[in-house]
Amino acid sequence: MIMDYEFSDGRKMKVGTMFCVGQNYSKHAKEMGSEVPKDPIIFLKPPNAYTPDGGKVILPEISNLPHHEVELVVIIGKDCDNVSASDAINYIAGYAVGLDITLRDIQNKAKTNGHPWAVAKGFRTSAPISKIVPASQFENNIPVFDVELKINGELRQQTNTREMERSVAVLISYLSGIFGLREGDCIFTGTPEGVGEIKNGDKLHAELKGFVSLDVSVE
Ligand code: MG
Repeated sequence: MIMDYEFSDGRKMKVGTMFCVGQNYSKHAKEMGSEVPKDPIIFLKPPNAYTPDGGKVILPEISNLPHHEVELVVIIGKDCDNVSASDAINYIAGYAVGLDITLRDIQNKAKTNGHPWAVAKGFRTSAPISKIVPASQFENNIPVFDVELKINGELRQQTNTREMERSVAVLISYLSGIFGLREGDCIFTGTPEGVGEIKNGDKLHAELKGFVSLDVSVE
């Protein structure tokens, strides 16, 4: 059973397709041995990858190198196709902090062989997402957020979303033009530098500072 997203005001919404953006922060692209790509790198997670605040990340035994990636997640509130960046704000339901949990060894093998990333990125519980802060809270702006991740109380990743190479508005325009976006879809907007290993027993605490936090444990 797929659980619904929860908003901080108590509303719920069915989880749709999760669109994820690769290498959207230049320092992270660099730590992966790349540069910010000319065209966005897009991959998907199925709705069953969702796990809510207070949930668990269950690591598949096929990997010896699971990694954390903390990210701003944008939730789509209205169906849209071919929207311009300047109209993108009208289709945002809200903002959350999420973790794009990645089986880095499986991903590296897929990259080497030119194979898809679905297993490395889309496994069950690979997408913890906090409660959603309603977009209405920010009036007519797409805000920037301070995002951070602590593991067992230790700071591991930290950024401000103004460091993104492609903005939320640009990403919505791009994705709506190719796939179309539907109510309940979400966008993982990319991770900053500082990705690293997680292991069983770890407690992950992610925040959109001042707005919402996410706590999950690793099993
Ligand atoms: Mg990511």
